[in-house]
Amino acid sequence: MSLPPLTLYLAAPRGFCAGVDRAIRIVEMALQKWGAPVYVRHEIVHNKYVVDDLRAKGAVFVEELDDCPNDRPVIFSAHGVPKAVPAEAARREMIAVDATCPLVTKVHNEAARHFSNGLQMVMIGHEGHPETVGTMGQLPPGEVLLVETVEDVPGLQVRDPAKLAMITQTTLSVDDTKDIAAALQARFPAIVIPAKDDICYATTNRQAAVKAIAPKIDALLVIGAPNSSNSKRLVEVGSASGCAYSQLVQRAADIDWRALSGITSVGITAGASAPEVLINEVIDAFRARFETTVELVETAVENVEFKVPKVLRETA
Ligand code: SF4
Repeated sequence: MSLPPLTLYLAAPRGFCAGVDRAIRIVEMALQKWGAPVYVRHEIVHNKYVVDDLRAKGAVFVEELDDCPNDRPVIFSAHGVPKAVPAEAARREMIAVDATCPLVTKVHNEAARHFSNGLQMVMIGHEGHPETVGTMGQLPPGEVLLVETVEDVPGLQVRDPAKLAMITQTTLSVDDTKDIAAALQARFPAIVIPAKDDICYATTNRQAAVKAIAPKIDALLVIGAPNSSNSKRLVEVGSASGCAYSQLVQRAADIDWRALSGITSVGITAGASAPEVLINEVIDAFRARFETTVELVETAVENVEFKVPKVLRETA
């Protein structure tokens, strides 16, 4: 029986970013250096496949430092942690390795600089996301106010409208963030806005690639975890760019084939924490059901790489 024809547009860039790649290398190198178990506070990156793989190698994932013994190394996830966490690890004389993405650390530093200049911050981010918690936790309570939507802006209670700065989570929707920043500027004309928002290159590039393929496709599948902020934003960008069916799947087994019956084109991308092996699994699943032609749609070339902390390089 012949299979129905399908063009599969594969977004590039997609999948792992430099921050995720570095965080995974940090756990692997820590296991090599200190042996198992190595404790990791929070999922090192938001992907079950990655976490399960590292768990099998001897990493133990916990939510709080209280769940770690003093005599084993602990690694802080790529999303960053409030300042109190490394301080507590130091007090307990633990070996602590920080896998916070350097682009998240850059926002932490920016927040500290604004604070020392006497500015209160408005952070655009998602409440409860570990990156938001980590960034807000760099400063004393009340110094960073959170807004999630344009609708949150009118209700903001600030200390002094003349002394404000804006920072953002790194994995937001580029377009939504522009709208929220514009609403903040309209209400607080003196607010210091970074020349370029804090959304990272990987988030920006993956969203641009989805915008490029959206007009060509009947359906978009984003490979990523339900708790991955940048993956969820890719689904939204797909819908906002006119793709009627835009869905998040963790892997091939999650694909709703009935919903895809009759399609002749599909777009595939992956969030920054989804490994290429899951992307290949999804492509293979399409090949098993359709006469599939794969077309790469490349909108940017990435060559960013981050070094692991010195303590791990010394023995590598
Ligand atoms: S998505 Fe961006 S901020 Fe997050 S780890 Fe990757 S490069 Fe860093």
